[in-house]
This record gives sequence, structure tokens and C-alpha cells, in this order.
Amino acid sequence: MQTYFPPTREISRRRFMNIIKQSKSFNEDEVDLIERAYIFGQKAHRGQKRLSGSGYFAGHCVHVALYLHSLGMSATMIAGGLLHDTLEDTEVSTEELQEAFGSEITFLVNGVSRLGDIKYRYYKRHISGLRKFFVAVSKDVRIIIIKLCDRYHNLQTLSYLPPDKQRRIAEESMLIHAQLAHRLNMATLAQAINDLAFKYVLPDDYQKVQRILKSSLKGGEKTIRSVYRKILTETTAALGYQPLVDRRIKSLYSLYKKLLLKNWNVALIYDIIALRIIVKTPAECYQILGLIHGRWRPMPNRFKDYIAQPKANGYQSLHTTIFSGSGYVVEIQIKTEDMHFLAEYGVPAHLSYKKHQGQDPLKFEKDHFHWLDQLRLFVDQKEIDVKDYLQDLETDFFKDQIFVLTPKGDIINLIKGATVLDFAFAIHTDLGLHAKGGYVNGKFKALKTRLQPEDIVEIVVNKNITPSKEWLAWVQTPTAKRLIRHHTGKRT
Ligand code: MN
Repeated sequence: MQTYFPPTREISRRRFMNIIKQSKSFNEDEVDLIERAYIFGQKAHRGQKRLSGSGYFAGHCVHVALYLHSLGMSATMIAGGLLHDTLEDTEVSTEELQEAFGSEITFLVNGVSRLGDIKYRYYKRHISGLRKFFVAVSKDVRIIIIKLCDRYHNLQTLSYLPPDKQRRIAEESMLIHAQLAHRLNMATLAQAINDLAFKYVLPDDYQKVQRILKSSLKGGEKTIRSVYRKILTETTAALGYQPLVDRRIKSLYSLYKKLLLKNWNVALIYDIIALRIIVKTPAECYQILGLIHGRWRPMPNRFKDYIAQPKANGYQSLHTTIFSGSGYVVEIQIKTEDMHFLAEYGVPAHLSYKKHQGQDPLKFEKDHFHWLDQLRLFVDQKEIDVKDYLQDLETDFFKDQIFVLTPKGDIINLIKGATVLDFAFAIHTDLGLHAKGGYVNGKFKALKTRLQPEDIVEIVVNKNITPSKEWLAWVQTPTAKRLIRHHTGKRT
């Protein structure tokens, strides 16, 4: 994901149009369409400000359009990006938009607006919102791509929002938007969304992972550099040309997931830094693999052939892990340019790809994106069990979490094993500090009672109650522990 400007910068028409023209991706009519969309959007949003203080259009809509451009999207999509909030947030009517830009762009903007009302905090709406998402996907994947770029920009400016909103939006982004990006095989965007959101959803763990990443980058640097140099020389000699070899550093969020899996033992994670070798043909991938295994000892059971057996989202590559000889192990990924391009940019790459390759788009889609068919099948099922929906969407991130509800239907996200007391602290500090117990599905339960997914909980307070050290044994969540320690005078 190429970002041209800091997220709060207002991008003027001249500057924006320069980028569009200099890319040489558009003919005269297309440049004209994009410029008309800029003028129209700017006028429609006149006077509106973001919480960051930037003008709404030049400080948000134009960023979204530029992300779309960096993904190689068409003029229609870039115009759609510029206009994506005109129906939802301005006086512009569907008819006016239709008249000015025709039905295709109106269809896209309309789709984006319909996705606007998702609030994952409200359980019921959550489900219907997800459903809308999928229906939209099955109708036109381009709507999703605009929405993902919209969310990506919103996450970049999340610090300007009030804390409770920050957390809700961040959680929603991980549960819905990053998921979708992943399903669209847009690895870079999925990672970028997760990394931005992770900071707000789990701030303490975020800091911890950041420290671990920093120190392991420092420790492995020398090894990586020496392996890198040897690979570059030897592959160039073998292939007769110099392949692209670069460092891929594990994203913070995927490192976090791995750390959880390995009990925070960083020594068991081998792919914090990986070397990526980009060659021209699949045959060369196997040739280079042979060369590497001949030169360094491969780690047993770490070799994966995703070329012969692509991942469900279409990802292809060879992965192996080698002993460098200096005590460090290094993961190596070998793929072709096409595989690399598709893995980074996913469906958008394919949308702009097909234009240039002159392939039948539908055939291309069938061959490479059979998940799209699966999504469609999924939506076409008339009777869909709500539980199946959630189960399918819950990633490993949400696997060890439970959703419980307030009597009003607000969703509270807790870790598995959380108790009535955790719930009280999750809602409000004062509620936790003076909690007496809680009604769980209508029955009064003690503070230490463990909650089950989808329990409906109402806390009972008594202002004479104050926390005791005994409470520490009754809670699971770090927030509750911290607050109890703080209010019982015990140092952390
Ligand atoms: Mn927007």
C-alpha cells in the first residue's frame, strides 16, 4: 500500500491531478472524469471538517482515491473513491449523482453508503451488516475495495476520535475489514489494517510485541545480511540474471498471533524476518529451492509448497527455513513476479491486471478466485444460522474471546473465562469497584461466576462495597486486575 501523504494532509486539486496525470494510466476522457469527480466532491463537502481539523474532502476522500490509485484501480473506481461519501454525508441526491456521473459510479457510491451503517457493537445489526457486506461482495467486489480504502484512512486518523470510539472502530476493523481484505488476498492491506487496529484493541500487548520485534531485528541483522549476500550472488550465477531479493519483516499483528500460539517464546518463531526471492518462472522457484537446500541445512517440517497447493485465498509461494550456521534460522520464500504481485495486491491487482492482459475477466476470476464463488454460494443460502455466520468469521484473534451482552444489546468483548466482575470493570470502573454481583440471563450470580458466550449480564452495585485483594483471583482481564490492584493499594 503506497501512501503518498501524511493522513491528515489536505491534497489540492492541482497536486492530486498531477499524480493522476503523471501515472500515465489514464486516457484523456478518464483524466477528465477524475477531475470532474474532484470538483463535484469538493463542492458537495464544502465547509465540512474532520475531527483532525482537516477539510473533509481534501483531507479524506482524496486520500481514499489515492489509495485506490496505488492499487492500480480504474478511473471509475478513483472517481468512486472521490465521491464515496457524497450520498451519505452531503445534500447530493442519488438522481444528481446519476445525472453527473452515470449509473456505474452511482451504483458504487450507493453500495459504499449502504455499508456505512454497520455497528459491530450492536449484535443484531452486526449480523445484518455482515450480511450486507457479503451481498455487496457478491454483487460487486469493487464496493468492498473502496470501503476498505475508506476504513484504512479512517484508521490512520483514529487518534483524533474519543477513546471509546477508537476501540469500537478498531475491533470492527479487525473483525470485518481485515478479514475481507484477507479473503480478497490483499495481504498488504489486511496487515496494514490489523497493525493499525491492534494498537487500540490491545495497547499493552501492542507495546510488548513492538519491543520484541525491535530486539529480534537487532539480534538477527548480521546473519540476515550475510545470508542475503550469499543468496544474491549464488542465485544470480545460477539464473543468469539478478533476481529481486528482499527482506520481509513480519507484521506486528501476525507476530502477536504467533507469540500467543508459542506462549510468548520468541525463540520458537522462525519467520520474524524472511528473505523473499522473486524469480521469473515456477521452474526457477524449484531450481532456487534446490540450490538453497544444497547450501544450507533446511529445518525439518518447515518446507511448504504453496505453488503445487495454493492456500485457500490463492496465495502461492515456496517456503523453507534454513539454519544459517551462526545460530539463527532464516525463513526463505521463493515466488514468481506474478505470484508476488497477486499476493501483495490481491483482487485489485487482478482487476487492473485483466485490463492489460486482455483475458476474459470471468474466466480469470474462476481460475484464481474460486473463493468468490464460495462467498456467493454462502449468500445465496436462504436460511443462514446466525451462529454459523459468527463462527465462520471469527478468526484466531477472536477465538479465545467471548461476546457477552448488556441488557440493551451492547456487545462486550471479553477473554474466555472472564467473570461477572470482569464484565463490570469492562463497562465502567465505578461499576467494577462497587459491584455486588450480577444478573446473568435473569438469575443473580456471584462476582466470580464465569460467563458464557452471549450471556446477558446486568451488574448490581452497592456503594458500600469496595474491592479487596481477594478479588484478584476472581478476574481474568488485565484491565480488571490493574484496577483492583490500584484500588487496593497493591503495587503492580
Ligand atoms: Mn469515508
